[in-house]
Amino acid sequence: MGVQEQSPFDVDALRDDFPILERKVGGDVTVPGEGPGDETPLVYLDNGATTQKPNQVIDAIADYYREYNANVHRGIHQLSQEASVAYEEAHDRVAEFIGAEGREEIVFTKNTTEAMNLVAYAWGLEELGPGDSVVLTQMEHHSALVTWQQIGKRTGADVRFIEVEEDGTLDMDHAADCIDDSTKMVSVVHVSNTLGTINPVSELAEMAHEHDAYLFADGAQSVPTRPVDVGELGVDFLAFSGHKMCGPTGIGVLYGRESLLDSMQPYLYGGDMIRRVSFEDATWEDLPWKFEAGTPNIAQGIGLAAAIDYLEGIGMENVQAHEDRLAEYAYDRLTEFDDVTIYGPPGDERGGLVAFNLDGVHAHDLSSILNDFGVAVRAGDHCTQPLHDELGANSSARASFYVYNTTEEIDALVEAVDEARQLFA
Ligand code: PMP
Repeated sequence: MGVQEQSPFDVDALRDDFPILERKVGGDVTVPGEGPGDETPLVYLDNGATTQKPNQVIDAIADYYREYNANVHRGIHQLSQEASVAYEEAHDRVAEFIGAEGREEIVFTKNTTEAMNLVAYAWGLEELGPGDSVVLTQMEHHSALVTWQQIGKRTGADVRFIEVEEDGTLDMDHAADCIDDSTKMVSVVHVSNTLGTINPVSELAEMAHEHDAYLFADGAQSVPTRPVDVGELGVDFLAFSGHKMCGPTGIGVLYGRESLLDSMQPYLYGGDMIRRVSFEDATWEDLPWKFEAGTPNIAQGIGLAAAIDYLEGIGMENVQAHEDRLAEYAYDRLTEFDDVTIYGPPGDERGGLVAFNLDGVHAHDLSSILNDFGVAVRAGDHCTQPLHDELGANSSARASFYVYNTTEEIDALVEAVDEARQLFA
């Protein structure tokens, strides 16, 4: 299958929504707020780390601060009511977006990492013990890997890792060996932020459920880039971050099945999450507020809802088609170089990112050359150190794409990689 000729939407028109894309970079003026540097157009290919924000999201956040800034759930004055309605409705918007039953199943956190920790602490510390197991994959992000590893150490539960095959996919026979009656939780990344692999989450959820275990999907790279429906996937928990989907930093989501969240103890204690407090004891607020102690990230929650409106305006099927097209194009172009190693599955079977190495050149040096050409990629281990150990690489460069990227920008990446090849030859 060849690369599709065209994106399903008008990318040039959409780029006008993102003021930062007019930035020039380079030269010595790179201090934030001091205006553009030299004259190199920015080619932003670090979307797996965080995406840029459209005016619609920036305006929604500014409107909150300009027009109705107040704390939520606390006042009966008008501004507080307006803020509360907007913040609560943001939960409804997220619920609808991922096919959850309602706001009870949507807890706002700081990010994916905090959502993982919430479940690990509130559920894991209570429910796990010696003789139990938690099953992960070798391609988990540190946010899942380190968290369950530490909970394993504290509870005595065994932490197992499903192996990754040479082609970057999961060894499903090994998955069947790992998931057994001792398993209480399977925690799996939906789209790998390093390999681009799209994991068979529904199949793994079925395997988990056959053994009465839960499935936690890390949706940090999938929810922003494709339609995700928690019912269709059959997951018990799902986590993702607003900042990777046109939303602001400081807002993440934990989806949990209502009965499960209901049975869990709170993770953080304090104001807003209680119903009644005496000197001796306390009772908890309804879901999801039981898990949102203290003043939440109000502006960020409202910004996330605006980001969802924006993405749904494009259509998540279209976002996915655009990502698929760019991934395939980048994969094809980078495979033109025989001294470039790309990690993970082929171009037409991956999410919208490509991690690679140029023979004999450290990823940091490569990305520094790319930066000279205005091309922003991520270099490092992408919070998957053990996976990089398995790949036999201490780091890699990663180009990751979003709705505003173009094939011309990938050409710019490829040209800059070629310059680096010649420089280090
Ligand atoms: N999981 C995956 C797959 C990710 O790509 C990331 C972000 N790189 C995270 C988890 C963590 O996200 P955050 O830093 O927003 O908590």
